[in-house]
Amino acid sequence: MPVADTANRPPVLWLNALFHTEMLDDDDVFRRLHRFCGTFVDLTGIRPWLCVMTPLCHRIRVRLAEQGFAPERYAERILQLAEIAEIGYHGHFFDDQGERLVSDRFTMATAGPQMVAELAWLHALGLRPKLYTGGWWVITPELLMQLAAAGFQLDASTRGDKANRYGDRYSDTLPALGERFELIHPITEIGSLPYFGQPWPYYEAALQGLLPAWGKRDQWAVLPLHDYDLAGARGHEWQTITGLAASPLVRWMDVATALR
Ligand SMILES: [Zn+2]
Repeated sequence: MPVADTANRPPVLWLNALFHTEMLDDDDVFRRLHRFCGTFVDLTGIRPWLCVMTPLCHRIRVRLAEQGFAPERYAERILQLAEIAEIGYHGHFFDDQGERLVSDRFTMATAGPQMVAELAWLHALGLRPKLYTGGWWVITPELLMQLAAAGFQLDASTRGDKANRYGDRYSDTLPALGERFELIHPITEIGSLPYFGQPWPYYEAALQGLLPAWGKRDQWAVLPLHDYDLAGARGHEWQTITGLAASPLVRWMDVATALR
């Protein structure tokens, strides 16, 4: 992994907001997310990251059917957001009975075909996501291998020492939150911080504890939030973004920068 040039600046924290985008059929959620993305671009000059689910995921399919919301409208909303955000993929995998594939229930024999179908759906919209984040923070080596084969280059499914949520196999070997590393060839890992819809003074203090190397050498992390967290929000998420944007020790990264 090449080291970023630090010759002319202090070590910084490279960030982007990453939404687990799960309720685009909700008018209020969609409107708030669209507004957030536009304002974020205006402030940072960088498009935020939206990892989306598709109508071929059980959870979305059920909700769209219940509400009579056409999958085509769901696709239109993703394409609208793609104009002001980087579209990634958020995998929540279910079996044929609609049971969540987590822990021992997770198998690629079941999750793999769902991923193939969902990515084909996104490809048909002209979207080729390179960025992944795992639903329920689930990630496995086999899942990563299939993502790599599908062209993914960046993952944000790990959360530092909260290892057991994504698979014991990595728990003893992962670098700390804030480090950037190759999780499985050729996928780069940048870990997720806590959800950023918390009061900024509290969040700022938490960051200092979670990223002790911040300011000592370059660090990388993503700021996760659910799209639906924006509904009924009290402005904390925007205070966090503006607070971080005001810091001389923060830079905002697009995917190309994250991989450089
Ligand atoms: Zn999710």
